[in-house]
Amino acid sequence: MSAARDDFAAALEVASTRARAWLDGLDERIVRAEVSADDVRAALGTSLPDGPSDPADVVRLLADAAEPGLVATPSGRFFGFVIGGTLPAALAADWLVSAWDQNAALRAASPAGTAVDDIAAAWLLDLLGLPPGAGVGFVTGATMANFAGLAAARDFVLARAGWDVGEHGLAGAPRVRVLVGRERHESVDSALRYLGLGAPEAVAVDDQGRMLADACAEALRDGPPTIVCLQAGNIHSGGFDPFAEIIPAAHAAGAWVHVDGAFGLWAGASPRTRALVGGAETADSWATDAHKTLNVPYDSGIVAVRDPAALRSAMSYHADYLVTDATYLEPYERVPELSRRARSVPVWAALRSLGRSGLAELVDRLCRHATAFADGIRRDVPGAEVLNDVVFTQVCLVFGDDARTREVGRRLMADGTVWMTGSRWRGREVLRISVSNWSTDDADVARGIDALTRAAVVSG
Ligand SMILES: *Cc1c(COP(=O)(O)O)cnc(C)c1O
Repeated sequence: MSAARDDFAAALEVASTRARAWLDGLDERIVRAEVSADDVRAALGTSLPDGPSDPADVVRLLADAAEPGLVATPSGRFFGFVIGGTLPAALAADWLVSAWDQNAALRAASPAGTAVDDIAAAWLLDLLGLPPGAGVGFVTGATMANFAGLAAARDFVLARAGWDVGEHGLAGAPRVRVLVGRERHESVDSALRYLGLGAPEAVAVDDQGRMLADACAEALRDGPPTIVCLQAGNIHSGGFDPFAEIIPAAHAAGAWVHVDGAFGLWAGASPRTRALVGGAETADSWATDAHKTLNVPYDSGIVAVRDPAALRSAMSYHADYLVTDATYLEPYERVPELSRRARSVPVWAALRSLGRSGLAELVDRLCRHATAFADGIRRDVPGAEVLNDVVFTQVCLVFGDDARTREVGRRLMADGTVWMTGSRWRGREVLRISVSNWSTDDADVARGIDALTRAAVVSG
């Protein structure tokens, strides 16, 4: 074997051993990190060596120094933010993506990469109940998926108003109004800022954070150019905007409708939850993040645009050295980036390993655990109150006043059995439970309820 091959073999061996040890330890370890970022910096050493090091030693040093500073986000007892774990097939496929080192921007650069893109895209549209002809782009996360969908929206509504953004930019363009629910995810605002659209107009929502159809209809009266950005899955309540009421009205008013479904769009993949996204398929563009409900590794946002030409004209460009096929929408023509890893591969592997019924079962299981949390909290946890209607995977609770909710949350995190994050919702400090990990089981939920009970009693 050449020296390079020996180096690969030794370094990958260490990585594989350490990855498996990390995964094996997830059942037992506490969820929070055991050390601080400063501790990890010290363990890694901050001075850059003057010369080369053995690759396997580098990987070993990294694992030794980093592991105590890792949060067990892939554990079934992690309920913070909205963070999925990683399905085994998706993780292993992700390793291959790095080993293969394809530039999946172009079919010429990676026939395999684009073949997987095409299949994964078609499966996603089918499973999520979206139009089969939509253009699909694999981006980094939901923020960029929102960006790409809203870019297509911006260009389209301005073109209809007689303004070519690609040619003239935004200076002097008609003002595009973007209507969002008051409880949209704030990353939508940053996507709009990148697009030069400024701050959106917030439309009133109900007690579950769902946009009020009447208020939206009122705001639509001012006429186009308008984009309506709806939400499938509110991070506090898990609630879904009333798509079937709002989208026809928005279209009648000449608006483009975009749906941010970072974790909630997956409701469409199960017959039990499909009604939650009823009507969302009539929108013009959709964004989701496969690392959330689907449980693939990070770097896996997905944008879909009903009219593939609208996505292409917003994202694509021509360069003589990029060998393209005019009859085919190249991967780079659907996303903001050019060079990119073969992001669709872990998505394909997750879908291929779950199958249609496995994905539906995954979604149902996450919902069932969220409901079990809410029921268990109401039954067993002293002083706790569940604030939301648990329709999907999110549970939002309080313990009396803000100070007490914060204190219970602090004790819960110090305990380390589970991880739940605090937030503010509807003017109150809350504790959020997001059930997003495929590996969470009944025992994890029971341990979570016990941990909440301990934290509530100790601080009572
Ligand atoms: C997580 C989330 C986002 C942002 O997604 P990233 O993948 O973190 O960029 C946007 N919208 C909603 C509703 C989310 O839950």
